[in-house]
Amino acid sequence: KLYNMVQDLKGNIRVYCRVRPIFNSEMNGVIDYIGKDGSLFVLDPSKPYKDARKTFQFNQVFGPTATQDDVFRETQPLIRSVMDGYNVCIFAYGQTGSGKTYTMSGPPGRSANEMGINYLALSDLFLIYIRTCSSEDDGLSLPDATMHSVNSTKDVLQLMEAGELNRAVSSTSMNNRSSRSHSIFMVHVRGKDTSGGTLRSCLHLVDLAGSERVDKSEVTGDRLKEAQYINKSLSCLGDVISALAQKNSHIPYRNSKLTLLLQDSLGGQAKTLMFAHLSPEEDSFGETISTLKFAQRVS
Ligand code: ADP
Ligand code: MG
Repeated sequence: KLYNMVQDLKGNIRVYCRVRPIFNSEMNGVIDYIGKDGSLFVLDPSKPYKDARKTFQFNQVFGPTATQDDVFRETQPLIRSVMDGYNVCIFAYGQTGSGKTYTMSGPPGRSANEMGINYLALSDLFLIYIRTCSSEDDGLSLPDATMHSVNSTKDVLQLMEAGELNRAVSSTSMNNRSSRSHSIFMVHVRGKDTSGGTLRSCLHLVDLAGSERVDKSEVTGDRLKEAQYINKSLSCLGDVISALAQKNSHIPYRNSKLTLLLQDSLGGQAKTLMFAHLSPEEDSFGETISTLKFAQRVS
């Protein structure tokens, strides 16, 4: 149980930052320095150099050259603690295009070494936990959700791909559906502990909707309502995690469906990991700062 001891030293809430590479079409980057100790320095492009630097602190920061394996290695102990009966929730937060899906699932048409956390996590759990149980009613109160029993990582991959297809189904050039919805992958684990008792735990892997502010002049009607709904659910999530981080006695789970649904894997003995994703280019600086502020609030 060495991995648990290591994790416990870090507490139940940790925040990692991941900065995706800058693309050729993008001009200047705002990332000044990434420290091995989890520090991140960004430059405000509107300020003269001497006043431009802002510093943020994380448990870990992954720069543009970090591989999927690098990221998984720092996440694996947390995922393995699910097998010790801990509930675990991992979130990907950030504006559209910052790399949330890349971290959680991998890029489209991913190769074996580009697989994201959800695939690697499941492969890892199957390494330890071979037998599976039937899918029975678990009181999961999601109208269109179904529970599936799986026997191998391949089964899981197929389910995830079907989920991704559902999510992308009605995308338009103006408004990408997958960036306007949360994707929640819930894994329920049931087993026997060493003394024969029943062990139940869950792993929730959440690729959140894009956190960007929507310009009210550009969207109206249902689109505006949707945008406001997303912003509200993200800010409620921030409220819940920051209340947990501050060890408040009241945790406002009931303020959004998202937090209500994830309640079992937030708080109590549960372990939470938030990945704050950044797009490094200058044009995204406003969203980058808002993501960094969100991350600061929950850590
Ligand atoms: P999001 O889900 O936040 O909207 P994506 O995961 O779709 O963002 O990433 C946007 C683009 O950037 C995709 O083409 C993705 O493959 C690429 N990308 C994101 N993160 C990385 C990374 N760490 N390394 C290489 N490419 C990345
Ligand atoms: Mg995405």
